[in-house]
Amino acid sequence: MRKPVSSVVGQRCLLVAALSLATFGLLSSCAETPRQDAPGTPSATQQTQSFAQWRDAFRAQALAAGVSAQTFDTAFAGIEPDDAVIAADRSQPEFTRPVWQYLESAVSPARVRNGQDRLLQNADALQRIDSTYGVDREAVVAIWGMESNFGQQMGSKNVIRSLATLAYEGRRPDFGRDQLIAALQILQHGDVPASNMIGSWAGAMGQTQFIPTTYNRYAVDFDGDGRRDIWGSPTDALASTANYLGTSGWRRGQSWGFEVLLPQGFDYAQADMDIRKPVGEWQRLGVQPANSNPPGDPQASASLLLPAGYRGPAFLVTDNFRAILKYNNSTSYALAVGLLADSLKGGGQLVGHWPVEDTPLARAERIELQQLLTTHGYQPGTADGIIGANTRQAVRAYQKSIGLPADGYPTLELLTRLRGA
Ligand code: CA
Repeated sequence: MRKPVSSVVGQRCLLVAALSLATFGLLSSCAETPRQDAPGTPSATQQTQSFAQWRDAFRAQALAAGVSAQTFDTAFAGIEPDDAVIAADRSQPEFTRPVWQYLESAVSPARVRNGQDRLLQNADALQRIDSTYGVDREAVVAIWGMESNFGQQMGSKNVIRSLATLAYEGRRPDFGRDQLIAALQILQHGDVPASNMIGSWAGAMGQTQFIPTTYNRYAVDFDGDGRRDIWGSPTDALASTANYLGTSGWRRGQSWGFEVLLPQGFDYAQADMDIRKPVGEWQRLGVQPANSNPPGDPQASASLLLPAGYRGPAFLVTDNFRAILKYNNSTSYALAVGLLADSLKGGGQLVGHWPVEDTPLARAERIELQQLLTTHGYQPGTADGIIGANTRQAVRAYQKSIGLPADGYPTLELLTRLRGA
């Protein structure tokens, strides 16, 4: 399902997220973004050094950061830049899949069956992980499924080579350098031999798809063999994920969120991740669970999420959803993890319907939308084709001005209105 070239970069995904993120309603996980080479994309760095010159200069920095000469020279033996990494780094996908298509593959019946098998196979370890980190086993296994298809798709690239390429001629050389030094520190620590340190083109490693700095913060040796082996040990990978979520504010026993139904005449401007209210207060506003599942703690802080605008399903999402966002800052990703976790427990079916007749805006159309909003006196921010908070606010303001539900969700219909305005 996942192409190795586009394998996930996780939070760790910030590199790609910053470049190709379509934050709202559209696929924004790097994992499954169909990547295409965009003609005319400018190269980031004017290379004035050869790779060998760069490597020798970088070697001094790495040694100053505590990396031994032996670690460095072993890791860099035979390493040359990887053109495929540069192509992936410079690509800007023109089209993004709508959230419903993303969920269809992320939470496929095959993945749910696979995940249920993994829950059984790893039951003992998951029990211990649950009691140590206080994170639901289904959420941990769901992330495992999203990141590497339960360890089956970790990427196949030499991490040192990928990161050296990004540090040498990527669009964000500082990112590449920081990650590369962290990767060398991991090798020096003896967790994994250089030949087994494989991952995605952007340096996301192993079954958890941690970038090296994330690994150094959160990876744990949970099976007790002395190595933090997120490549070969499912137990270490699952515990490392639980450690990450637990450290990111996961609340034991709380749901990530649940689907809700909104009352007639609801003010859609309330659907904003920046607006938080206790679940009980949302209920007093008429926001009700869509099915019989208990909504959990009425005091839990929650935001209302409309991933595809007011016509699609609505969700109340809690601090645990925000913890998943720290793993990978994409609402589509976090929703997929939540729904996959629910599906592993036999739930996950939605009452609402996605607006599947909508054609998602292409990148050029999103840019045009932002330009037109600016022309009409709104402030969507830079016209970069990324639908972020400023663009959503501008869309809401425009929707309000023409009497449409102010859900902040850009559609082709809205763009057409703007063109004629
Ligand atoms: Ca271990």
